[in-house]
Amino acid sequence: MEFDLIARIRARAGQRDDVELGIGDDAAVLRVPDGMHLVVATDTLNAGVHFPAATAAADIGWKALAVNLSDLASMAAQPAWCTLSLSLPQADVDWIDGFLDGFLALAAQHGVALVGGDTTRGPLSVCVTAHGLVEPGRALRRDGARVGDDVWVTGSLGDAAAALALLAAPESADGHRTEAGDAVAGASAWLRLRLDRPQPRLAVGAALAGVAHACIDVSDGLLADLGHVCAASGVGAEVRVDALPASDALCARFGHEARRELQAAGGDDYELCFTAPQDRRDAVARIGLEAAVAVTRIGRIVAGDGVRACDDGGRTWRPGRTGYAHFAD
Ligand code: ADP
Ligand code: MG
Repeated sequence: MEFDLIARIRARAGQRDDVELGIGDDAAVLRVPDGMHLVVATDTLNAGVHFPAATAAADIGWKALAVNLSDLASMAAQPAWCTLSLSLPQADVDWIDGFLDGFLALAAQHGVALVGGDTTRGPLSVCVTAHGLVEPGRALRRDGARVGDDVWVTGSLGDAAAALALLAAPESADGHRTEAGDAVAGASAWLRLRLDRPQPRLAVGAALAGVAHACIDVSDGLLADLGHVCAASGVGAEVRVDALPASDALCARFGHEARRELQAAGGDDYELCFTAPQDRRDAVARIGLEAAVAVTRIGRIVAGDGVRACDDGGRTWRPGRTGYAHFAD
């Protein structure tokens, strides 16, 4: 089975001039440009854990690559190549074709070539490794935040977690229906798109090199991920919970308090959270404009440790949970 599937994958994998040898040999051979650093990220998606079991194959394909490109984006790397390790319950040609539709559409958007992988039988699981390039010293790390920096986030927060909440319990939108029925359905569909088809913020990430001090992509929830930046940098952060960007769809489906929880602690956003000096505010705004991605200032880096969220009255605000922990009870 495996060879038929690999042949199908090989026939469709994208090309790049710097691929000396792609799918078909024991390993790929890639030309790393002189003077560039190679940036490598791996993420696994397991059925039922990282995506609902009923997710369409094309959406799984898209997301498997997107979450890896998001890691490269947060490092300010330019993506180049990827590998794909698939564990499949059966050799389902239709499923593979659908999966490749999503995976390769995103790969083509960013000029990424699929250069190898592995195909085995087992519970549905998708592991992607993405390789990118960055100029020496330009990678955006978690440990560069400085006291006085602004904290920024791209896009909007909480949409994917909202989609999951609606799947788990449609009534969880706490009866907050300010719109007519069609608009409610439209908002729900849009939230689902944010869950299934995250857009890696590669243009913003690359442009932030030399502007931002530290960066992380938000996958486990904003407060948890900003907490990782603070821990790595030896600083604290204050976040204004009411400044967190909310999409119209989120506002249409969830009330104020539920929304805050989803935005501050929901996972799967794949937005960038970064810190930058206050005198670079104009530069950050310009980067957002040029990439056509919203950038919102949500707080600042302070001396100390940990992340404190507060409401507009200055009172400390705590979510019911802080981020998605795989091994939590
Ligand atoms: P080997 O036994 O040497 O690992 P495989 O039969 O696993 O060889 O793979 C043959 C070729 O197909 C290799 O180049 C490998 O990288 C590629 N390949 C296998 N599975 C995938 C996949 N899911 N996606 C992309 N390339 C794959
Ligand atoms: Mg193999």
